[in-house]
Amino acid sequence: MKVFFKTYGCQMNVRDTEIMKGYLSNAGIEVINNIKDADIVVLNTCAVREKSANKAYSLIGRLKKRGIRVGVTGCVAQINANEFKARGAEFVLGTRALNSIVDAVKGKKEIDISDHIFEIDQSMLKGRNKARHAWVNIISGCDKFCTYCIVPYTRGREISRPINEIVKEVEALAKTGHNQITFLGQNVDSYGKDLKDGTSLAKLLEEVQKIKEVERFWFLTSYPSDLTDELIEVVASHERISRNFHLPPQSGSDRILKLMNRRYTRAEYLELINRIKKVIPEATIGGDVIIGFPTETDEDFEETLSLVKEVRFIRLNLAPYSPRPGTVASKLYKDDVPINVKKERMAKLSALQHEIMLELNEKLVGREVEIIVEGRSKGQSYGRTIDNRMVFFEGKVEDGEKVKVKIVRATAGPLYGELSKRVVRIAK
Ligand code: SF4
Repeated sequence: MKVFFKTYGCQMNVRDTEIMKGYLSNAGIEVINNIKDADIVVLNTCAVREKSANKAYSLIGRLKKRGIRVGVTGCVAQINANEFKARGAEFVLGTRALNSIVDAVKGKKEIDISDHIFEIDQSMLKGRNKARHAWVNIISGCDKFCTYCIVPYTRGREISRPINEIVKEVEALAKTGHNQITFLGQNVDSYGKDLKDGTSLAKLLEEVQKIKEVERFWFLTSYPSDLTDELIEVVASHERISRNFHLPPQSGSDRILKLMNRRYTRAEYLELINRIKKVIPEATIGGDVIIGFPTETDEDFEETLSLVKEVRFIRLNLAPYSPRPGTVASKLYKDDVPINVKKERMAKLSALQHEIMLELNEKLVGREVEIIVEGRSKGQSYGRTIDNRMVFFEGKVEDGEKVKVKIVRATAGPLYGELSKRVVRIAK
């Protein structure tokens, strides 16, 4: 039996796919990278973007016509299990039923959307996509209930993994050659709150500093009002922790933030950015913005533009608002910003962000930056700086190697440079 996974959506989904692949590999079931040879296709769905849910629905029909068995997992599966069964899915597993994947592909389980928590076995390591950079879930679910978002309903309330279990997983990953670790969570900086024993992301990052083989630690996504001074101090005091904070503002208007049920004001958000920059002047900020939320006026949008100008994000994901079934916003608010207005605002914000990114990147031209190589594309190697800028350069360098690159050209996306030296870190 050959199983192929098609994954939609966020990093959490990508990691969930890795975990399911690990369970199958451990059970001796072949996981393949080419859908053409698959006996069974597992669609790991995302409910955040309408497109990915629709894509999954239409793919089921096409695969069934070709006689290929189909299973569905992920966020849309969690809330629409019966719909998927009706459309021909052989099994449907929710976000907390990853460990049922072996039974499901063997035809022993049809639906599992229960709330039970499963333990991640360290032996799942062989399911990881990348040899040197591993993603580690540290907290699942979300307690925030933003009105536009379905995640608290599909992934449940926040549940943090015990710190010692995570440290053991990172130690095991380091032994198998992983030298970059990204800690993942819908709200990664809420990590530990539910454990009520003083555990926090700051403490976890401090604890893993003892694991010297890991060159770089990343974490995402952070919720603005959960980011503590303690975390900022820990990042500042350890050179192996990324200087990039992904802190989605979603809007610059207090009125819209309130309608979204975001738990901070514009002033509090800007104050947080100032606190970060005061302690870590070289820090970069990433974010997400929703454009055209119900009732968003030109004035509200101007507030967003001015917030973007003030923060100067190194990366900003823009999404036009569209109501997601089952969310509070879809029930309470009319999607009343016309599509052409959303498009105009998207174009305006996108042009501004382009300008900002170009300016930020141009400051690096002529300078040498240190990157860890993550792959090759079109004959060039690429990797990321510690503040999360993508750098391409000529030459073949192994994944995971740390190199210095002199930047010769900047764009609003990646930077381009020349390899100047390979770096060997001496563990301290
Ligand atoms: S913080 Fe808001 S947007 Fe993020 S997962 Fe939770 S409810 Fe969704």
